[in-house]
Amino acid sequence: MGDIDQMMREIAWEVRATRTWIGREALAPPVMEAMRRVPRHEFVPSEFQSWAYADGPVGIGHGQTVSQPYIVALMTDLLEPQPDDVILEIGTGSGYQAAVLSQLVARVYSLEIIPELADEATARLRRLGCSNVEVKAADGYSGWGEHAPFDGIIVTAAAPHVSPYLVEQLKPGGRLVIPVGPPHGRQELQVISKDDAGEVTSRDVLPVAFVPLTRGRHSADTTPADSPQ
Ligand code: SAH
Repeated sequence: MGDIDQMMREIAWEVRATRTWIGREALAPPVMEAMRRVPRHEFVPSEFQSWAYADGPVGIGHGQTVSQPYIVALMTDLLEPQPDDVILEIGTGSGYQAAVLSQLVARVYSLEIIPELADEATARLRRLGCSNVEVKAADGYSGWGEHAPFDGIIVTAAAPHVSPYLVEQLKPGGRLVIPVGPPHGRQELQVISKDDAGEVTSRDVLPVAFVPLTRGRHSADTTPADSPQ
């Protein structure tokens, strides 16, 4: 099954190796603790158990992957999660990222476009006692208005542009962490911040490779169909 100590060492090593990009030498200790606490092997299919604690992405079916642990840790850290925060995730996948966030914040809402993955993640998170996570099968492009605004939003699939709905559903002082770029081209992990006056700024953090954000089950069309009211 692998070794959690080794996974933690690899995350720390990757953080140091990319420090000039990400602007930090180490991630926040609570983030590292959450990474250590969540049993990644529970989120990885049985045939890939030997890769559960390797620092790489792992297939979870439906052509999707659970992200590399270093990327999960980095994106969590970039969100700067606080204990009272309410966070929206787009792209539940296995539920691993949601489980990591559930250790750090008050509430996690997560949207997954593939209903089978949403169902599996819901059952898994319930079994593991992550009672502060709610998963819904839906296209995350429009966010989750019912629970908005959010202290932070994390998107775990890449889009050519940032959905204006997500920016709108961010609280003043909140952060949106998102890979931006074409499906198989150059993608940048971006942090988009909304200040207390509602002013929005973005910065590029790191070149990354994510599965694409899709619009509707069979379409990779990511052009905006409409815009927020
Ligand atoms: N965060 C996940 C990994 C995500 S892989 C984990 O920890 O396991 C990206 C996920 O985004 C896939 O499951 C994919 O089905 C989902 N996805 C793609 N486009 C989406 C959309 N428009 N809305 C919601 N989920 C989407």
